[in-house]
Amino acid sequence: MNMPIPATMTAALVEEHGGPEKLLLVQRPVPQPAAGEVLVEIKAMALNHLDLWVRRGVSGHRFPLPIIPGCDGAGIVVSVGDGVDEKVVGDEVVLAPGVSCGRCQGCLRGDDHLCGNYGILGETRDGTCASFVTVPASNLIRKPTGISWEEAAAFPLVALTSWTMLTRKARLKAGETLLVIAAGSGVGSMAVQMGNILGARVLATAGSEKKRSKAKELGAEVTIDHSNEDWGREVKKLTASKGADVVFENVGSATWKNSMRSVARGGRIVTCGATTGGEVSLDLKALFFKNIAIFGSTMGRRGDLHSLTRLQERGLLKAIVADTFPLEKIHEAHARLESRDVFGKVVVVP
Ligand SMILES: [Zn+2]
Repeated sequence: MNMPIPATMTAALVEEHGGPEKLLLVQRPVPQPAAGEVLVEIKAMALNHLDLWVRRGVSGHRFPLPIIPGCDGAGIVVSVGDGVDEKVVGDEVVLAPGVSCGRCQGCLRGDDHLCGNYGILGETRDGTCASFVTVPASNLIRKPTGISWEEAAAFPLVALTSWTMLTRKARLKAGETLLVIAAGSGVGSMAVQMGNILGARVLATAGSEKKRSKAKELGAEVTIDHSNEDWGREVKKLTASKGADVVFENVGSATWKNSMRSVARGGRIVTCGATTGGEVSLDLKALFFKNIAIFGSTMGRRGDLHSLTRLQERGLLKAIVADTFPLEKIHEAHARLESRDVFGKVVVVP
């Protein structure tokens, strides 16, 4: 059973790097699924900082241009390539953003994000910022029931990233204190909720009163204004001078110094994203005298997304949709994410 498929589709395309004007809205042939792949009609996609990096370019890194950006998406399977069971046609799905070889040691032990050939939709192959996308059939995850397309699309990348950072890297335990830096970011808003599920006391920072009150609604016990230069001192006060057992970093150079100050003896800092820059100074003496561990993290195990979407289905984790734009307004959607005046995810609907 194959569904009627148009010949062409609307897509956002990056042909060369630059500002929002470099995002072209084009008509392209609807792609054909290769062997082992499926064609998915996108009902909603969500922006991540990766979309901005793909558009702007990253010095020293080459993206395969032209490329359709977009790593998160949810939709309906409309056709299958060779070797894929036709029964999946018509399924409502969310897409795992990571693509890997499926054959190497990393893939076979479940660490597909450590695959030597790991890639991400919209970064290494055409992504979800279009009416249709082809993905390997192994990237399909059943869409949670009772969740809107927008919420389903806004969930995978940030949920997977935050979960991997908190559970597989920092190994956050019940009763510990978690400090989430920038609770208004996609990963931050997820980390606040996960900290609660895992039984931690959650402290959260944000740069505006509006974001701090939203962080409280999500389950942060106390919020801290990280635009105040000395906010690390605040964390010490709130933890009886001990500091946080786990510091969840995703801002980078702007917050690093205070993140180091905020971590407890024997504590862990886990970092991703570095949205304000990745160059920081590090005093090794502070690191070893305080027995601090620092973990870098990006993406996570595709298998974990299957359980995380079930947590979303049960209402234990919520994707926070800040704003929704039609695909025709993709430039405004990018500008909204870049403005930083946003709590949660920016969603685009083709
Ligand atoms: Zn592999």
